[in-house]
Amino acid sequence: MKSVAALMAERVVCLVEEDRPEARRLANGHALLRTLAVGLCGTDREIAAFTYGSAPAGTDRLVLGHEALAEVVQTGEGMIRLRPGDLVVPTVRRPCTRIECLACRVGHQDFCATGEFIERGISGAGGFMTELFVEEERYLVPVPPGVGELGVLVEPLSVVAKAFAQLDAALTRLPWEDDAPRGLVLGAGPIGVLTAMGLVANGYRAVVYSREPADGHQALFVRSIGADYVSSESTDVAGLVRRHGRFDVIVEAVGVPAFAFKTLPALAANGAFILTGIPAPGPAMDFDTSGLMRDFVLQNQLMFGTVNAGRKSYEAAVRMLEQFLILFPDAARRVIARRISLDEAPAWLRAGGGGAKTVIHIAEARTAARDEGLRAAG
Ligand SMILES: [Zn+2]
Ligand SMILES: [Zn+2]
Repeated sequence: MKSVAALMAERVVCLVEEDRPEARRLANGHALLRTLAVGLCGTDREIAAFTYGSAPAGTDRLVLGHEALAEVVQTGEGMIRLRPGDLVVPTVRRPCTRIECLACRVGHQDFCATGEFIERGISGAGGFMTELFVEEERYLVPVPPGVGELGVLVEPLSVVAKAFAQLDAALTRLPWEDDAPRGLVLGAGPIGVLTAMGLVANGYRAVVYSREPADGHQALFVRSIGADYVSSESTDVAGLVRRHGRFDVIVEAVGVPAFAFKTLPALAANGAFILTGIPAPGPAMDFDTSGLMRDFVLQNQLMFGTVNAGRKSYEAAVRMLEQFLILFPDAARRVIARRISLDEAPAWLRAGGGGAKTVIHIAEARTAARDEGLRAAG
């Protein structure tokens, strides 16, 4: 079967031929899965540029792909919930083996404290840019047929869902209701747009602040979900605040520190600033640290980073997608801007393709009921 792999010694990303996993050899609690679609993101580009990622121990080849939607083909002994034909999304991170890592020991490897975790398609284990794969049931999150192809967005959305869960935990320190809180999203990429949808769905007055022009198609897209769009090219942070006031929550979704920290004056008293983007190494910045510290102390402000997601956040992401399909059905379907084949993936990765969400379409769901769901989801 065909897979897309990074060959570490040769430093190339290409199609490789691999043995098909054998259904009759399925271990207890494992399922054989057919990959339907895999989303591409900046992490894949970094792996393809050999600046990130690692092959499984003792090998030289990493199969890419961590944002997958798959169909259960066959289940081994001891499966509790899943049946052949079910749609699922595999989680990405696997726990470290260190006994002292309490987070991993209780299934919260997204909070792994040792950094020795494994991530499928990223570091230490093969990913999902392949036709068939095997996974344990506890790492497979069911997706209802009605969500269909959009299930490929569950993994990136799980990062947003985790950020919201962390925010909810932080908001218990403010035991009063704000009936129209303001949320600012930095960046209009796929994570930025999904975050804006989540904020709108949660009753926030949401604004997306990004480089693209105020009359461009990203701006129109953002306005179509009921959020506002402000271009950082034509409006500075002071102008943004004059227009919209300061924000109770700012979610950074681009990974550009110079842009992110410039917006700190737009954070309201008692506000939370959430970092989700991972910047490439860059030069040190000249920065008013006493101003930052003074503002954070005198205004009870809070900043936290969040990465990866646990199973609960994947399940929350599935529910968010169902909600998006009701609240903004057209926009939700338009988040996936481009579909390519597995054969086209190496060239996309080598070219460092970017911008709008691109998804590798690998197979159609086989089960009739599931086909219905995939069609319904466009
Ligand atoms: Zn990704
Ligand atoms: Zn750990």
